Amino acid sequence: MDLIVPPLSDKELQEWADRERLRLLGDDHTLSFDVEAIIEGEGLRIQAVPNLLSKFGLEAMPIFSDARILVDADSYDDPHLWFGRLRFTLMHEMAHYILHREHLMKVGLNDVHGWAQFVNRVGKDTSVEKQANEFAGRFLVPPDRLQLLIQEERPRLLAQHDELPNELFIKYMRVRLAKRFNVSPSVIAIRMSKERLVY
Ligand SMILES: [Zn+2]
Repeated sequence: MDLIVPPLSDKELQEWADRERLRLLGDDHTLSFDVEAIIEGEGLRIQAVPNLLSKFGLEAMPIFSDARILVDADSYDDPHLWFGRLRFTLMHEMAHYILHREHLMKVGLNDVHGWAQFVNRVGKDTSVEKQANEFAGRFLVPPDRLQLLIQEERPRLLAQHDELPNELFIKYMRVRLAKRFNVSPSVIAIRMSKERLVY
């Protein structure tokens, strides 16, 4: 079941995400651009559905046949749970549309039960999920902007701590940059390990 999508390297996914970001936002955009507006602008409808998480174990999922993205209703309206997280989740679902729509529809992954079964059976560590995560992370955190902000934050961070071993420097930097990009610190952590950055 894991081999239902073509293999794509991180580099291919990153270039694809860059092209889509450029197409949708141009090259002069704010860092916390409105992901929901982008999705809706592409003709997809975001729909908050009760109990998607509690009943099916899904925070969100695509319904390809009628261009919807379902989001768990409680999660969607919980500011604490979703701080910095909703944008990534929605972009991850949009990535499925861009990367996987044809392939997943062919194997009948087009309703809540089928999707829940698939995700719960194969887990989150499949190539389908990894591809969508890499695409979403790169789309939301352009590496050139990440590099610039690291340089900008670096002196401020160092000025506020007498001693800052490398480990703590990276830990604090993730939190600061997460606020700037409006994503979770773990998304920044992954981008800091995947992109070629200087700091
Ligand atoms: Zn997914």
